[in-house]
Amino acid sequence: PSAEAAIPASVLARINDHPCYSEEAHHNFARIHVAVAPACNIQCNYCNRKYDCANESRPGVVSERLSPEDAVRKVQAVAAKMPELSVVGIAGPGDALADYRHTFATFRLMREVLPDLRLCLSTNGLALVDHVETIKSLGIDHVTITMNAVDPHVSEGIYDWVYFNNRRLRGLEAATVLLDRQMEGLDALARADVLVKINSVLIPGINDDHLAKLNTVVRQHGAFIHNIMPLISDPAHGTYFGLNGQRGPSPEELQRVQDQVSGDARVMRHCRQCRADAVGLIGEDRGQEFTMAKLPETV
Ligand code: SF4
Ligand code: SF4
Repeated sequence: PSAEAAIPASVLARINDHPCYSEEAHHNFARIHVAVAPACNIQCNYCNRKYDCANESRPGVVSERLSPEDAVRKVQAVAAKMPELSVVGIAGPGDALADYRHTFATFRLMREVLPDLRLCLSTNGLALVDHVETIKSLGIDHVTITMNAVDPHVSEGIYDWVYFNNRRLRGLEAATVLLDRQMEGLDALARADVLVKINSVLIPGINDDHLAKLNTVVRQHGAFIHNIMPLISDPAHGTYFGLNGQRGPSPEELQRVQDQVSGDARVMRHCRQCRADAVGLIGEDRGQEFTMAKLPETV
């Protein structure tokens, strides 16, 4: 059966107004990312810490770091002007669960003030399994986990370190702990009936031949959408990937890998690698209309 046919109607009803999960929805429904999560618990070799989390967003653009209260004020202002707003996401600029208090304080306020918006969270997965109950109880219906490999020998070179249980792990040990924790988190979300999207950063020569296998594995564990994003390596924003000059994929390479993996978890092709403070329809960014300086004092 095709991947589309494999998605049950009950799940389709939960994604048909989410612009990232549904290709059709992205023409009509808008999302806002609020940048309330500056800390991170791992170091990806493709990360540039000056900017937003490369897992969910385009590096090279600085976003405001918001308090939970300011984030809610901002979302209220946007919702008042943008009836098509359907989703509030937290995707950085670091990892949304590294300092989970900010993230959950924001979602809690959001639930009270704007109960109709869908809540969406994006994480590298290291801390995820510890927070699945909170995610469920807050009604966060969509979680994205960035997974670049399902074999630690493949991902070993992708992470400089992973900070876990008060220790800074490196090499194969770091990759193994991260992968084990990601899989535990994915399984726990699937049991809790939270919808999971997997993001993978395509890194030529590292994981391009591996993502088809990853797609099959994550599908077996309950994820149903797979977003394959190109590594962005732009000299203007610094050299990525451990400063070794790793290039990003060409559009043709990206499409080849996306085609290779089609058939298990549905492949998302309309991701635009938004900023961590993106506002509006995917592909348009109205973030500059809603900077904190431009918001009314009270909404
Ligand atoms: Fe950077 Fe995101 Fe990786 Fe953390 S998870 S190191 S913020 S790219
Ligand atoms: Fe959606 Fe991709 Fe933008 Fe995230 S980065 S909000 S998945 S389009």
